[in-house]
Amino acid sequence: MKRVLVTGGAGFIGSHLCERLLNEGNDVVCLDNYFTGNKRNIVHLMDNPYFEVIRHDVTHPFFIEVDEIYNMACPASPIHYQYNPIKTIKTSVMGAINMLGLAKRIKAKILQASTSEVYGDPLVHPQVEEYWGNVNPIGIRSCYDEGKRCAESLFFNYNRQNEVDIKVIRIFNTYGPRMHPQDGRVVSNFIVQALKGEDITIFGDGKQTRSFQYVDDLVEGAIRMMNTEGFSGPVNVGNPNEFTMLELAQEVLRITNSKSKLIFLPLPADDPTQRKPDITLAKKELDNWEPKIQLAEGLEKTINYFDNLLRDV
Ligand code: NAD
Ligand code: UDP
Repeated sequence: MKRVLVTGGAGFIGSHLCERLLNEGNDVVCLDNYFTGNKRNIVHLMDNPYFEVIRHDVTHPFFIEVDEIYNMACPASPIHYQYNPIKTIKTSVMGAINMLGLAKRIKAKILQASTSEVYGDPLVHPQVEEYWGNVNPIGIRSCYDEGKRCAESLFFNYNRQNEVDIKVIRIFNTYGPRMHPQDGRVVSNFIVQALKGEDITIFGDGKQTRSFQYVDDLVEGAIRMMNTEGFSGPVNVGNPNEFTMLELAQEVLRITNSKSKLIFLPLPADDPTQRKPDITLAKKELDNWEPKIQLAEGLEKTINYFDNLLRDV
């Protein structure tokens, strides 16, 4: 049995990761400050004697003995990470320093949840890991993008200088049950709007693209990455099927059978025009990993979740 620490474990992705690690027979410690996470996401795990929950903020040092650390703590939706941008930078940078210091001291493997946002508004399409990105260092998204880029630098420097066993995954847009219904991300927004019969808010002309990955595929990729030997990444983990926001809206309307109308609102500053992962490296290094759940199937599962959630309120 491995002892595993998951920071941000009460969040959307973190809660799925904790659940999967417990199901595989690990001893799991979930650490969270509940900024965007919620006990509701993990309450079903709390009867398990191998699951522990600790309220803690990763910007402060933390000491524990574990074999592996998944560093997922960081708000991920633009609304939440722009709410207190200085705190977002501290979470990425000081959180990385604290967790890397812990990993160094206890000789644990450590995985960083990095992001496709390190590519900014990419000029290379699809994005390969060798691409250094096109990021506005002073814009409203920079607290997140540059925070995550600095965290990547910290990871690779702790590896070079202190031989910490690091793993860096660059996560592309991920969706699924337990997303925060009000966090402003496009998949949860469109689903909630369609289910409530409200207008679907398309930012800009809706022709910008994203590639949407179902959460189970991401969790599989993250665990495979942790289990690699002699490979640190960075590696893209995402679904290469690319959609415009207009196509996503049509798909959500079709599955929910909703009569909601599309409305067009201004595009937020520095909103990337296109995004699609090249997953050649992930396939090679992660034992032929590739996403198994395509958009229609993943949306159905997510729509069911939000449908139940909205009925409960
Ligand atoms: P989320 O907001 O649901 O989860 C983040 C969790 O971290 C929450 O539980 C939150 O309370 C916790 N947290 C935030 N700041 C903290 C702090 N200072 N100390 C302790 N806990 C803190 O977001 P998510 O979508 O589950 O994202 C998880 C990770 O994956 C993040 O690091 C995010 O940057 C990364 N990521 C997500 C996506 C995506 O599409 N969902 C894409 C790229 C990268
Ligand atoms: N978006 C939109 N309507 C919404 C929310 C988002 O059209 O109600 C757009 C947003 O402008 C962006 C895309 O959807 O182009 C993805 O946004 P999200 O915040 O989910 O993720 P990110 O921009 O971080 O990839």
